[in-house]
Formats: sequence, structure tokens, C-alpha cells
Amino acid sequence: KLHNIVQETKGNIRVFCRCRPLSKDETSSGYKCAVDFDGAKDGDIAVVTGGTAKKSFKFDRVYMPTDNQVLDGYNVCIFAYGQTGTGKTFTMEGTERNRGVNYRTLEELFKIAEERKETVTYNLSVSVLEVYNEQIRDLLASSPSSKKLEIKQAGEGSHHVPGIVEAKVENIKEVWDVLQAGSNARAVGSNNVNEHSSRSHCMLCIMVRAKNLMNGECTRSKLWLVDLAGSERLAKTDVQGERLKEAQNINRSLSALGDVISALATKNSHIPYRNSKLTHLLQDSLELGPAKRQVDTAELQKVKQMLERARQEVRLKDD
Ligand code: ADP
Ligand code: MG
Repeated sequence: KLHNIVQETKGNIRVFCRCRPLSKDETSSGYKCAVDFDGAKDGDIAVVTGGTAKKSFKFDRVYMPTDNQVLDGYNVCIFAYGQTGTGKTFTMEGTERNRGVNYRTLEELFKIAEERKETVTYNLSVSVLEVYNEQIRDLLASSPSSKKLEIKQAGEGSHHVPGIVEAKVENIKEVWDVLQAGSNARAVGSNNVNEHSSRSHCMLCIMVRAKNLMNGECTRSKLWLVDLAGSERLAKTDVQGERLKEAQNINRSLSALGDVISALATKNSHIPYRNSKLTHLLQDSLELGPAKRQVDTAELQKVKQMLERARQEVRLKDD
């Protein structure tokens, strides 16, 4: 019975295993890692040894000692999926009094940035895009519909949309207005706001640029928060013309998303990202593993000089 409940709630409750690396003391005392990851590669099974006994545990995902912090260079993607009216926009955008996932995510990022400010400098910026009928609109642009936007490959595993607005946000106070501006622009140019928004995907991208002050490493990660178009299927006989085109595009992109996710889940070698604008935009964030580390050499040089100056100051004090 419990097994069934666990099966049913999978997705709501997920259990992760994270194994820390051994400390210097542990290594020099001859300790070996207490967790045996033999099975972890295919089934995410960690085998724990206690004395001579070995026990196996299954997790949704096992993080190895070499895995870094999620914030530190990983791309992430969160979706709201469901039929029109089920609360996707409420969940993602929220209201002034009841802020949603988008706002709270940025709030959390600013909180972490503050906590880590001695060691890492974070720069956050946001873009808000809409995908409607396989066309990308920049909801933060001064005239969203005038620009034709395309996805470009920017180096291995990295994509971007040239010309989109990346609004820099310095603190949480600035965030709500930017998010509202994006949300309001969604309605512009359509005669029925709710209908339009249920037929388009609204995609918030948070760019996290991090500079590690200890080792000079720079990372750039993307966090996509997506309010998907309504997942209801319209009977072909009910719709014609423009509405039929919309429905076909929605079905196409949602099934493209499903195809990509099942290809990832079955560890297929070919992942069909390019079958829709939605999946193509999300490619970097759906790919497994850490984002490519983008090392900015000029920045790195600056940080090195800064550290060298700090070291000299310490030496002068010692003298
Ligand atoms: P969708 O974006 O999936 O079409 P909405 O987010 O617009 O759906 O939600 C439909 C209605 O239900 C809205 O009026 C919204 O404010 C309300 N609503 C949705 N989820 C909640 C919730 N958890 N609590 C209160 N009201 C909600
Ligand atoms: Mg909605």
C-alpha cells in the first residue's frame, strides 16, 4: 500500500541523496567513501556499507561528491502544466498580495547572494518571452511584436536569442515591477486576454552570473520558469482557421516537450530539441549535467590582481 502511495506521489515527493567528499583528515586516516555508487549510474542507487553489511537505497537522484551546488553553474527548468483554469498563471505569477513561484525564486536567489557575498558575487537579470504560434515575442521590449526573434547557437550547448531584453535586477524591490511589465505585455494586441494567454507559453528566464572570488571561476546559469499553454485538446471539428492553427501549434509544442522529456528519461542519444521553439529555447536547461562554465578571462585577471593585492597587504602587516 505504501509502495502505491509513494508511486502516486512521485513528482510531489522526491528523495535525493547527496554524498559529501571526504575531508582531508578522513582521507589521511585512510577512510574510504562510505557510499558505494556502483549502481548509481543507471538506477540512481546508492549502496551504503555499514561494517560488513551492505544496504541498497533507491533515490530519485544521487549527487556524487564531485557534484557542485545547484546554484553554481547548473541550468534549471520549472514548468506549470495543466488545462486552462487550473492555476498555472496563479502559481507562477501570483498576485500582488500572494506572490508566485517567479517572484519567490528571485527572492530566494537574492537571499543566497547576500549570504554568500564574501565569496561569490552574483549578477541577476531577467528576460520574459512569449511563444505563440511558434513565434517568439519579447515581452520586455518597448514594442514586443515589431522584432522577429530567432534562436541562435552560441557555442556548444548554449543558446541565446539575439536582441532580447535582459533586464538587470539589483535587488528584490525592482523585481515585481519587471515581472508585471512582462505579464501586462502578454495581453497587448489581443482582443481576448485570457484566451490569448491560454494559447501561448510565457517563459521567464533568470540569468545567474556568478563570480567566485576565491578561485576566480565565472559561471553563467539559466533558470527557466515556464507558464505553459493550456494542455486541453481541442476537437478538430470545433475549430477552424486561426484557432485551428493555434491549437495545432500548442499540441505540437506540448508533445515536443513530452518527446524531449521521455527521450531524456530513457537516456536516448538523440534528444529532439529542435521540433519546437519551446524545447529549442529550453535546450540548455533540459540537458543533463552542469552548464558549460564560461570563464571570462578579463574578469578572472581582475580577481587575481585583487587577491594578489590583498596578499601583499597581509604581508606588509606581518612585517
Ligand atoms: P491557468 O493559468 O492555468 O489558466 P489561472 O492561474 O488563471 O489558470 O487560474 C484560474 C483562476 O483560479 C484565477 O482566477 C486564479 O486567480 C484562481 N486560482 C488558481 N489557483 C489558485 C489558488 N491556488 N488559490 C486561489 N486562487 C487560485
Ligand atoms: Mg494562465
